[in-house]
Amino acid sequence: MEIVVRDLEVVYQSGTPWMKKALDGVNLTVPGGSFTAILGVTGSGKSTLIQAIAGLIRPTRGIIRIGSHLIDANRKQTADVRRLIGLVFQYPEHQLFAETVAKDIAFGPTNLGLPQSEVDGRVKQAMEWVGLDSELADRSPFQLSGGQMRRVAIAGVLAISPKILILDEPAAGLDPKGQEEILSLLKRLNQDFGVTVILVSHDMDQAVRYADRFCVLAEGRSVLSGTAKAVFSRADILSSYHLELPEITRFVQLLNRKLDPPLPEDVFTLDE
Ligand code: ADP
Repeated sequence: MEIVVRDLEVVYQSGTPWMKKALDGVNLTVPGGSFTAILGVTGSGKSTLIQAIAGLIRPTRGIIRIGSHLIDANRKQTADVRRLIGLVFQYPEHQLFAETVAKDIAFGPTNLGLPQSEVDGRVKQAMEWVGLDSELADRSPFQLSGGQMRRVAIAGVLAISPKILILDEPAAGLDPKGQEEILSLLKRLNQDFGVTVILVSHDMDQAVRYADRFCVLAEGRSVLSGTAKAVFSRADILSSYHLELPEITRFVQLLNRKLDPPLPEDVFTLDE
């Protein structure tokens, strides 16, 4: 399911001295079935953008089209669209609440009004996907390790069978093995089941390794977006924004290595 964002503006606390334009004319196309990484320094608008796409924040200008559904300043996201999108917040384990792992994961599908047998099937499947042993189903989620709690939280989102999965730093704070497992799971859901994945990540290596499209935000604007090749070929644009130069250089090198065949590394150098 394709997502198109056009001229998106989001203003926080409008009409107060604390007014902040967090997004200022963002354009982005996320083809259905793609794996898109959203990159940018802290405060560049990444969280605001994904919350707007997920329908939690209303645009002050511009449109977001999800399939054939439109959201704009006057039109809220409908329940039909909301159930297509799974949003995994940063540190999602903070939102666990039920007395058992199974009940926590079942919350979403139960709310969709699915029959109990279907809910049970989805809980089992979601636990398998995230690599949680079925014996943990009746345990309290609060007795689990941090990494396991993260998996329970992600399983709860997968259990609603979203067509679009949006995640804000889903691997943050996990050890390297745990990070790898989460990212590989996302790649599998994307490749084998056609789930559209939008990943917000600070980790450039991780983002370039798993994503096939990129969107770089700076100061609330989408300064560059598209495939690895398209972004690589216009990466000179990045040097005109207040981004950290070593980070950009590294990003460009990683993108280049992803290209087939890669160009010589010294072909592209950014001015100091
Ligand atoms: P990122 O996810 O890239 O760190 P955010 O989308 O969280 O960026 O924030 C973009 C800008 O909007 C930042 O300057 C941030 O301080 C501001 N901002 C975020 N949330 C709010 C809010 N609720 N009220 C006012 N300003 C906010």
